Parts: sequence; structure tokens; C-alpha cells
Amino acid sequence: MARHSGGRGWYGKVVGAALGVTLLTTGASIWTAQAGALGSTEPEKAAPAAPKAVSATIAHASEAGERGINLTIDDGPDPVWTPQVLDLLREYRVKATFCMVGTQAQAHPELVKKVVAAGHRLCDHSVSHNTAMDKASQEYQSKQILDAERMITEASGGVRPMYYRAPGGAFTPYSRKLAASRGMRPLGWNVDSKDFERPGTEAIIATVERELPSGPTILFHDAGGDRSQTVEALRRLLPHLKEQGYTFGFPVR
Ligand SMILES: [Zn+2]
Repeated sequence: MARHSGGRGWYGKVVGAALGVTLLTTGASIWTAQAGALGSTEPEKAAPAAPKAVSATIAHASEAGERGINLTIDDGPDPVWTPQVLDLLREYRVKATFCMVGTQAQAHPELVKKVVAAGHRLCDHSVSHNTAMDKASQEYQSKQILDAERMITEASGGVRPMYYRAPGGAFTPYSRKLAASRGMRPLGWNVDSKDFERPGTEAIIATVERELPSGPTILFHDAGGDRSQTVEALRRLLPHLKEQGYTFGFPVR
């Protein structure tokens, strides 16, 4: 027994060593092949690509710098008012951010596509505009945000919303983090034009001019009722603000 074992001692070692090398080599090549396969196919299969996360703090600043204004237009799109707002923005070469309600986007995909084609940005404004959303469960908040994101992205033909604005500003730490993880920066405002309450064109203009020193992000609406005062106020404000050296841009992300 001992002799037999001893007799093939060196041979056994060499074979064992050779076998070990072979196994190691084979093992390594399998691993390399798997890594290669994963590396080459995974990003292609994972469509649509996961959005890049952004900051979860509420943005107010403008990418357009010190004299930059962020025009934000909420609650649409609406077949009567959104085209009128788009015409004015084109006339004065102004870019804006449209905070869309999911069901509105779903009902008017042609308007969502027009907004995107004109170079404006999209913002997720939830599915059903519940201003008490911050009191609801995380499950509810998640559904409101993610369903609207999907509705808007489908309506636009694949262009994703870059911001999330809670209806009535009803953000929660949870909703901000969720939106940010989907590449949608929580978006606040500095100046509420109060156009939604229809105080008269003069009053809307006066509110914007009075409050503009408090920050660059202005809130207007292109849906939710008769917006003729909003359209008229924009018709006068846009050239006036440009004359004063303001530029129009997008909120920071
Ligand atoms: Zn709103």
C-alpha cells in the first residue's frame, strides 16, 4: 500500500498539478465568458435605461444664472390654453417647464409632444392632483408619482419628466427621495402669480413684479379653468421682463 502510493508519488503530483491548472484555467475562462456576456448584454436588455438619480432637495434656482427666470406652467396640458401659451413662448423665444397632471398628459399626447418639440421641459405633477398627498400613505404617494411619470413619458413618445412638483407643494421626504431616484428633481416655486384665482391681468402682473426679487421660479397655470388672464399676463410680462435684462431658463437639477 505504502509502496504503491509511494511508487506513483511524483506522477500523481504532476497529474494532480496539471489537472489543477486545467481546472483553474477552465474555471477562469468560464468566469470570463460569463462576465463578458453579462457586461455586453445587460445594459441593452435593461431598456428603458434606469434614470440617473438627482438631488432630493427642493430646487428653486435657475440654470440661467443670476438674471435667470424659471417659468413653470402647471396642471395641463389643456387643448384650449396650452397652445396659446406655446404660441407666446415661441413668439418671445422663452423656454418653460410644464408640470403636467398624468391624466391630462394621457388625454392629450399631441400637446405633450408639442411641448417637448418646442424645447420645453416636462415635470411630473402627479396623477390626480391631490393637494393633501402628504397626508396619504407612501404606497399612495408612490403610485401617484410613478404612474404620472409613466403616463407623461408615454404621451411624450419617450421623453421623461426631469422634475417632480407635488400638487400644492405637498412634498414629503419620501416623495422627494422617490422622485429624485427616478431622475426627477423636486421643484418648488418662489413667486405664485395667483393666476389660478383669476384676480385680473393687472393683479397677476403686479404680483409677479413685486415678488420676483424673492426668487427666480414663477408659478402659472395652463389648465383648471378659464386661463385667459394668464395668457394676457404672459403676453405683457414676457417682453417686459426681457427688456429688464431677465433671461428665461430651466430650474437646476
Ligand atoms: Zn398644480
